[in-house]
Amino acid sequence: MKSYLHGLTYVEAKEYFLRRSAVILPVGSVEQHGPANPLGTDTLIADALAREASIRTGVVSLPVVPFGVSFHHMDYPGTITVSERALEAYLFDIMASLKRWGVKKVLIINGHGGNLPVLQILARRAREELGIKVFIYQWWTSSSRILSELFDERERGHAGAAETSLNMYLHPSLVRNDKVVDEAPRTNESISGLTTFLYTSEQTKSGVFGVQTSASADRGKELFKKLVEDLVRIIEVLERTE
Ligand SMILES: [Zn+2]
Repeated sequence: MKSYLHGLTYVEAKEYFLRRSAVILPVGSVEQHGPANPLGTDTLIADALAREASIRTGVVSLPVVPFGVSFHHMDYPGTITVSERALEAYLFDIMASLKRWGVKKVLIINGHGGNLPVLQILARRAREELGIKVFIYQWWTSSSRILSELFDERERGHAGAAETSLNMYLHPSLVRNDKVVDEAPRTNESISGLTTFLYTSEQTKSGVFGVQTSASADRGKELFKKLVEDLVRIIEVLERTE
């Protein structure tokens, strides 16, 4: 069974959309994840989850959208950002194409928290203007119970041990094991409780938030296995419910 839409022929796509009205869309980012992790961490993890969930459920996955909203990481070389407006317009056009093929539900597997505000606007617009229900899955929030069972709070931050462990399991050749580092992010007490825009470099020098050095491929394997089980359960419910 083919798991990616871009791997199907149009004849196979026609057959798929006659039978099913849901698809998966992974969305990531290309942004710094500390000196040990690849820039594509969020894209790679979202794509791996989408691919595995697709194989297990038969719901096809679209190719991953690799770029996200990453202005806050732009002090680190190699980070690429797109604007909120550009991402929203791009994703909306994908939804409009899917409508033509009868898609009613889209499960977005979001690998990057900075994309969430755009995805929420997309979900509203897709519902109102296209009649498509967009659901957003983020492994660190949607499966937070699993995450908190396996990693403590300081290990769950950006580029922390949880994310790094997933990389070590999924893409070991891309992780610089000799460069893992822990860094407690700086907080400004005088503005605590308020929301503002901060650059990552104002909060951490290395780009890592919290504890990273406790990461391992074994921990990543266990986390990935449980996340996929959770995702499969979610997709099965999603396909059944109106
Ligand atoms: Zn990340």
